[in-house]
Order: sequence, then C-alpha cells, then structure tokens
Amino acid sequence: MTEACLKLKLRKHLKRDVELVINENRSTMLSLQKKRNRLSLHKMFLDAPDHVIAAIAHYIRGSRRKSTEQNLVLRGYIQENLSRFDCSHRLKRANLVQKGEIYDLQPLYDELNTRYFEGALDLGLTWFGARRLNSRSRITFGLYQDNLRLVKMHRILDDPFVPEFFVRFILYHEMVHAIVPGYVDERGHFRIHGREFKERERQFEHYRQAVEWEKKNKMHFFRG
Ligand SMILES: [Zn+2]
Repeated sequence: MTEACLKLKLRKHLKRDVELVINENRSTMLSLQKKRNRLSLHKMFLDAPDHVIAAIAHYIRGSRRKSTEQNLVLRGYIQENLSRFDCSHRLKRANLVQKGEIYDLQPLYDELNTRYFEGALDLGLTWFGARRLNSRSRITFGLYQDNLRLVKMHRILDDPFVPEFFVRFILYHEMVHAIVPGYVDERGHFRIHGREFKERERQFEHYRQAVEWEKKNKMHFFRG
C-alpha cells in the first residue's frame, strides 16, 4: 500500500490525522513524537494488515495502561518482516568459515548449545572481518542474523591474546539472540538487549570475568 493509503487507514482508526514519516532505520521501527503529532514508521508497515494498523493506532492513542496484546501484535509483525529488509548477502553454509587460526567455532558452539540450550539451536557459524583493525571504529565482536540463522564472529577474536572464555562469551551472547527476540518498548524503539536477554546473558558461567576482561582489554584491539 502507499503512504497515503496507510495514512488514511490510520485516520480511520484514530478519527484524526497524524503526520506520517516512513523510515528505513532498523532501530526505529515505530516512534511517536507526541508534541509534533508525528509518527515515524519503518517501511515494512506499508504492507501491514488491518489488525496491525489497529495496533499502531492503539499505540498512538497511548493509553497509559500497558497494552501487552497490542505490543505482541507489533512485535510479531516486526519479527516476521525484519528479514525482508535485511539486505545482507545470503551466504551458503558451505561458504562459512568456522576454523580460525586459533579458535575453531564449531566445538565451542556445540558445547554451549548442549550446556545452555539443550542442544536446540541450529545455527550457522562463521568468522568475518580482518584480523587487524586499522581504525578506531566501534568493534562488533559478534553479530547474529536472524534471517540466516547465522552467528558471525569477528576475526579479531581469533587471537592467542583473547582467552577462550571470552570467545565463548561472545558466541554465547549471539546464540541468546537466537532465542530471545527483540521487542518494541514503550517509546517505540526496537530493543534487542532487554531484561530477558540480560538475564539469560548472565547465566553464562564466566559472565563477570568476561565483562571485566572486555573492559580491561578493549583498547588492545585498536593497536596497529
Ligand atoms: Zn547483542
């Protein structure tokens, strides 16, 4: 549907107009600036069925009462549609690289899968990136791509300097993403590290140690 059409449908539910901005920003799925009466929606909502539009309208009306049901509708829609807008290249499992120079991801993953996930996960694994960083860009140690069911681990971790418990921690973190979906918070932001996620993350045996190691050693990755 077109933007104008979505706007019309929203008006039908709201009985008033709202300024509509369509975005392509993954971190703002929907956000409302109340003062300006402006709603920003990810373009995936252009294809939203009526009950999802009704949930958006409910969200705009912003009744103070927590509306779990509407939130679930929105969250479900976002979750189902995210992959359509992920422009990352599809990888064949055959092209994935699990064996690094120091760490082999597969046995680490298998052990974590058995220990923390009852062996229920079926994810692809690969190293990505160069082993050296030459800029002070933000480091992303790991990534999880839900549409590919793929965990990507940055090659800077494939280094004897990095202890195994830290590699396992990053891997574990990405695996938790596979079972704890993101959600839309009260402000309309799509959050991936919510309370449930963090609780799960803390179950990692060497959680404290890993967090401390990261704090202490972050700068190491930026050297030469
Ligand atoms: Zn994460």
